[in-house]
Amino acid sequence: MATIAEKVARPEIRQTQCFIGGKWIPSASGKTFDTLHPATEEVIAQVAEGDAADIDLAVDAARAQFDGGEWSKLSARERGNLMLKFADLLEEHADELAALETLDNGKPINDARAGDIPLVIQCIRYYAGWADKIQGDTIPIDGEFFCYTRREPVGVVGQIIPWNFPALMAAWKWGPALATGCTVVMKPAEQTPLTCLRMARLAQHAGIPDGVINVVPGYGPTAGAALVKHPGVDKIAFTGELATAKIIQRAATDTMKRLTFELGGKSPNVIFADADLEAAAAGAHTALYFNQGQCCCAGSRLFVEDRIHDEMVDRLTDMNQQRKLGDPFDPETEQGPQVDQAQFDKIMQYVEYGKEDGAKCVSGGERFGDQGYFVEPTLFTGVTDDMRIAQDEIFGPVLSVMKFSDIDEMVARANNTNFGLAAAVWTRDIGKAHQFAKQVRAGTVWVNCYDVFDSAAPFGGYKESGIGRELGAAGLDAYTENKTVTVALS
Ligand code: ADP
Repeated sequence: MATIAEKVARPEIRQTQCFIGGKWIPSASGKTFDTLHPATEEVIAQVAEGDAADIDLAVDAARAQFDGGEWSKLSARERGNLMLKFADLLEEHADELAALETLDNGKPINDARAGDIPLVIQCIRYYAGWADKIQGDTIPIDGEFFCYTRREPVGVVGQIIPWNFPALMAAWKWGPALATGCTVVMKPAEQTPLTCLRMARLAQHAGIPDGVINVVPGYGPTAGAALVKHPGVDKIAFTGELATAKIIQRAATDTMKRLTFELGGKSPNVIFADADLEAAAAGAHTALYFNQGQCCCAGSRLFVEDRIHDEMVDRLTDMNQQRKLGDPFDPETEQGPQVDQAQFDKIMQYVEYGKEDGAKCVSGGERFGDQGYFVEPTLFTGVTDDMRIAQDEIFGPVLSVMKFSDIDEMVARANNTNFGLAAAVWTRDIGKAHQFAKQVRAGTVWVNCYDVFDSAAPFGGYKESGIGRELGAAGLDAYTENKTVTVALS
């Protein structure tokens, strides 16, 4: 008899090669790299290790479709219809994709099933709806002229994505690209290439012409860098670390590529004493520990009004103690492993920094188990703004709790970071909530909630958290050029 907690079966791995012009091909060098299951550290597949030669082929395939190929001749509505078919196929394969994501990334199967994959499907459907609604203006200029604008696809887009939400990041990038009529060369993260490759196959089955979506797995400084430099690529859309974005920005200068970046964060999450404390505590827990703390928008700086500080720390500590870590294929698991050894080491280093800098580790701080890259949910109190755990993005399950009493001072502290991706506030006072939403320098502000994502709502960063927006109508801007046409009427 199956029980609710029965473990989900591991999926079959079907695609491990480069996907170029609709064909599955080994890398030109013949090299492969290992991809691991982070909960057991075992090698699950060898994946083609693409490099500059494979990027060249992929860009040629993408250019051929963009510069007069079948794709360029489809009507906007036909593109939208193909995207709808693609979304339907993703939905048919939702369980398989979720299990593949869990295998490659280590995230709990329930998160992949309830979060990642439904959002992937929603995103492709949302942008399918936009395909035949992207239109220009007519402009009343001086003189006897008819002036109008056309919104045209920007061209071949190089898309470089990270490993924390592999399938979802692919969807965020393919959605607006396909809707606008661009073509794509994607370089997935070397830690997690599998769902992206599987999704590319499903796009092909949906009838999206070969060469429209190309995927070249490989490493950043080789395959990624070749994509960024390639003169046949019109735009780079990147999600990842700030340091990598700076390398990309410099490298893209010579070919004057359009660039969009979605980078890191050190997001402030503020709890006022007048909040619904139970909801706020649950929200603060999710804000940081969701996805093993591997979220660019993680609420990693928790500002708590001083008179509820101790109560809030008690609530959060209790939740940490109850959090179920373990096999990510077990539907009862709430927290899986970090993605790899490097991330695990970095997080443990920050736990040491927290202790060295004088913060108090009140829960966690240790490795969980003896296999896989698991880190206990960790909470520091007595954190001051200058400590490394308060300033740097840790990208792991390490929460820094700080007290505040004065609102203006708290807002200044919340803004005292080079990042500006997200922020949240918990209060029953709507005036205070809107004041905070106005004053905080961040691309997304959640009030009495956290991590609420919808394909229709733009997402992106202020300051060093990024350039441009993804999702929503705003997400189309970076995938279109605006052409002005002026016609003499006499
Ligand atoms: P993360 O911490 O999320 O791994 P990275 O910025 O290192 O952040 O990785 C995000 C993506 O950027 C990955 O696909 C990675 O391979 C790629 N990448 C890393 N270095 C470069 C580079 N020099 N040029 C282009 N892409 C890169």
